[in-house]
Amino acid sequence: MIDSVGLIGDPVGHSLSPALQNAAFAYHGLPDSYVLWHTPEVELAQRVAMLRAEGMRGANVTIPHKTAVVPLLDALDPVAEAVGAANTIVRLPGGRLHGSNTDVQGFQRALSSVAFDPAGRSVVVLGAGGAARAVVYGLLHAEARSLTLVNRSVEQAETLLSDCLATLDSDPSLLAMPFDDLDLRQVIAEADLLINATPVGLDGIGSPIAAELLHPGLLVVDLIYHVTPFLRAAAQRGASTQDGLEMLVQQGALSFEAWTGLPAPVDAMRAAAQQALKERT
Ligand code: NDP
Repeated sequence: MIDSVGLIGDPVGHSLSPALQNAAFAYHGLPDSYVLWHTPEVELAQRVAMLRAEGMRGANVTIPHKTAVVPLLDALDPVAEAVGAANTIVRLPGGRLHGSNTDVQGFQRALSSVAFDPAGRSVVVLGAGGAARAVVYGLLHAEARSLTLVNRSVEQAETLLSDCLATLDSDPSLLAMPFDDLDLRQVIAEADLLINATPVGLDGIGSPIAAELLHPGLLVVDLIYHVTPFLRAAAQRGASTQDGLEMLVQQGALSFEAWTGLPAPVDAMRAAAQQALKERT
């Protein structure tokens, strides 16, 4: 096996990516092995430079390096450039490094898998960190009609929205608000899609907002890979739900295709991720 590709982040121990990527390499009979590259901030530049070596395919990048990695790369695709973050690095012939952001399309594909088209719809996103950035970009470029971004730091939400707006030709209705805004109830009552892009519920405890705000007209998506208290409450209130596993699988499938030029075996990757998740719980 060749350790030719891996995950750069800190921490990385929780990741399901080795399971799903190694299933894809095995499916195609490739000798590559996808490994975890635990990388503290001070080692990021050195780790990225290592990808330039002959025989390397590239990497995924996760918390907290998706933005910091950008200036270390030689070229970026337009989506990564607009989002300001890369989660996939491909080593090009000669050792040049190309960055892309497969979170955006991975998220869009996950929504398509439950037949949800954001065009003309009203959306609420909770959280304004790195994942929310990809989600908001994906929703606005899929022509969502209105989007409310809810975050503890309203300033951070406003910055995210104005960055995204600068990449659009359209002029959707955009609003930033804190979790305790009295208008939140009404905004959710009128929404079609509600997304949790905060880590609240990751430990199986707590929900980002009160269950009583949820209603049957909503698709509720939690980017966390497993069923959270938030998703359980949403289902109890009659909403449709989706957890973050499909986004993870789809962004991984797009990364695999970028590294190898081969079609990603999405079903095998999904099954491997589900199995790894089951073994963990
Ligand atoms: P970041 O650290 O970049 O951002 C976290 C966001 O959540 C910030 O806006 C932060 O708000 C908010 N937040 C954190 N704690 C709380 C809290 N207790 N109450 C309210 N808001 C809170 O993380 P990411 O954006 O990278 O990740 C967010 C989630 O998405 C994680 O659970 C991660 O696992 C998941 N994820 C899933 C992916 C998938 O493929 N399914 C891909 C990437 C991420 P503030 O600004 O106020 O601090």
